[in-house]
Amino acid sequence: MKLEGIHHITAITGDARGNVLFYVGTLGLRLVKKTVNQDDPTVYHLFYADEHGSPGSDLTFFEYPDAVRGSPGAGMVHRIVWRVASERAIAYWERRLAAAGTETERVAGALRFSDPEGLGHELVVASVDDEPLVGGAPDVPRELALQGFDAVRAYSLEPRRSERLLRDTLGFTGGRDGRWEVRGGQRGGLYVYDPAPEVRPRQGAGTVHHIAFASAMEDHEAWRERILAAGAHPTPVIDRFYFRSVYFREPSGVLFEIATIGPGFAADEDREHLGERLSLPPDFEPLRDRLEQTLTALPNPHAGQEVKA
Ligand code: ZN
Repeated sequence: MKLEGIHHITAITGDARGNVLFYVGTLGLRLVKKTVNQDDPTVYHLFYADEHGSPGSDLTFFEYPDAVRGSPGAGMVHRIVWRVASERAIAYWERRLAAAGTETERVAGALRFSDPEGLGHELVVASVDDEPLVGGAPDVPRELALQGFDAVRAYSLEPRRSERLLRDTLGFTGGRDGRWEVRGGQRGGLYVYDPAPEVRPRQGAGTVHHIAFASAMEDHEAWRERILAAGAHPTPVIDRFYFRSVYFREPSGVLFEIATIGPGFAADEDREHLGERLSLPPDFEPLRDRLEQTLTALPNPHAGQEVKA
């Protein structure tokens, strides 16, 4: 039983419109699902990913309208690292982000920048041959596009406290200098600790809420049992409609989720038109009329884009 790397990363935005414009318009991801927060259906839950909505490329945002900016501290993810194919892609993104008014910084071959609400990102040249997960934006050449997650970096005061759970329970490997790999038969990614800054951690706009790792559907319940047996406190299995989820906090304080690969985002929408209309899981469908009136109207820069097989 192995986790297949990072499934999705969920963060918080106070500005859903600006969020779509940045992640779709600038970064060239595809908005693959526009739905509501299942714990508060009056606000959005937006999902960006590659053109197929694949785990491994899925960055999601809870909308808390006008939320105050947060600041990552101990127990929080502070940066999302994406793969690109080449040095040429790094140079392309440096120019493209500058043209969009986003400041960037080159650090040891990587490119760092923040989204408009301060969420940290980094692009690195891929060093593994996992399938590239490409957003398919019409204005981003495929060979230069983002290719899915490489890593998440989190702050910890005492990363050793997480070692046993990561290695013995979740099957992460490595761990030297707080650098862990989580890899299955198809895909993998890194989970890396950095020393926590002095600031008091504050969840808010521009911060990561949780990180999910990918499980085969048939292993999901067994992962929950294993986490429980290790003394962590997993939630019951929650059916999120597009996948099933179990949540727990790892010892460094980061909120983890184990999410199933599938059923996926085509469960209730045609693949060609993912994310174009408001998707509501069946339990929320009766609220549609009301929600369509109150939710923020969103642009979709690439609506109807052609999906390559
Ligand atoms: Zn999640």
